[in-house]
Amino acid sequence: MMPEPPDAAGRRGRPPVVVYPVGSLPGADMAMLEAARDALAKVSEVIVPPRDARAFSVPAGCFFRITSIEGAQVGDLNLWNAADLTERFFSGKTRALHATHLGKGDRLWSTLPQLRPMATITWDTLGWYGWDADGAGVHDVIGTRCDPYTHRLLSGGEYHHCCHSNLSRALAAARGMPVREAELLVHDVLNVFMCTGFTRDTHQYFMKASPVRPGDFIEFFAEIDLLGALSACPGGDCGTTHSSDAAACFPLKVEVFQPAAGSLPGWRPAPASGYSRTHGVG
Ligand SMILES: [Zn+2]
Repeated sequence: MMPEPPDAAGRRGRPPVVVYPVGSLPGADMAMLEAARDALAKVSEVIVPPRDARAFSVPAGCFFRITSIEGAQVGDLNLWNAADLTERFFSGKTRALHATHLGKGDRLWSTLPQLRPMATITWDTLGWYGWDADGAGVHDVIGTRCDPYTHRLLSGGEYHHCCHSNLSRALAAARGMPVREAELLVHDVLNVFMCTGFTRDTHQYFMKASPVRPGDFIEFFAEIDLLGALSACPGGDCGTTHSSDAAACFPLKVEVFQPAAGSLPGWRPAPASGYSRTHGVG
């Protein structure tokens, strides 16, 4: 290892600067959304079986809610623009704009070149959890999803019920496309209910048993027309293992709700970024 330079302490002592100050980020009108969610009419429901995934559609201006039922269970969420599947949830930029874990008021941003809010989190019954003594939080955008390629890399063999495969099958079924085509549209997830962090000494990604209990839910407002897919992770509460049939797994419920007419005054679906896309050429 290289010896430290004489000014090492000074170099390490520079103050951290938040990369994207949230004060300049366009936020949702939370007062309007909270008022609108007082009178919601349920329009559809999907039960996601354990170790599997299901797709669901949410029109712009509606709410959708993911609820724990039967037992502690983590869900891996993908979101696409229903009219253009190449526009999808941008986990990395959402992490950079908000934080490693999301909560009420945070937004799920889409990929470039649109970079717009796809959904806004309007309720989270696990908001009380905050940051625990291990530095962990709930609903992360740091894990990518369990997948059979990493499983094969690390353990060998084939396992077909990782979240990546579950989401691929769900999208293929929803849009009538081959699963090998669908998997190219599956992307890094919001880890719903998952409790994760980075170890303090080695900064490695860790998971611990989710604090979610039946009845807990996270709720979103759709800022554009959405196609969603949710996988009930084979890791169950992700307290011990994943990418196998070893953990106890439970279903998850997805419900879509419509607010009352006139309850979103002045609201419009989020527009795509206004950047010219010339990138300085021409
Ligand atoms: Zn998973």
